[in-house]
Amino acid sequence: MDDPAYTAAEQRAMRATIRDGAMPSCPRCDVAMTERPIGGGSFGLGYARKREWLICPKCRRSALFDVRRGTRN
Ligand SMILES: [Zn+2]
Repeated sequence: MDDPAYTAAEQRAMRATIRDGAMPSCPRCDVAMTERPIGGGSFGLGYARKREWLICPKCRRSALFDVRRGTRN
């Protein structure tokens, strides 16, 4: 049986790709992940934080990332 979740190492690699401003690929399927919008506002995370919810269109595994934005200027 396949593990339904990405491993910590896989998530770390994907997060590094996101930080570079690129869309990561699923480490299992090698297809580009799809970004899904998360209903903002009600999360209470606020300010500089953004959440990225990425889903692989092939295997349907998903991963949620906290991404800090706005440090790029
Ligand atoms: Zn996949």
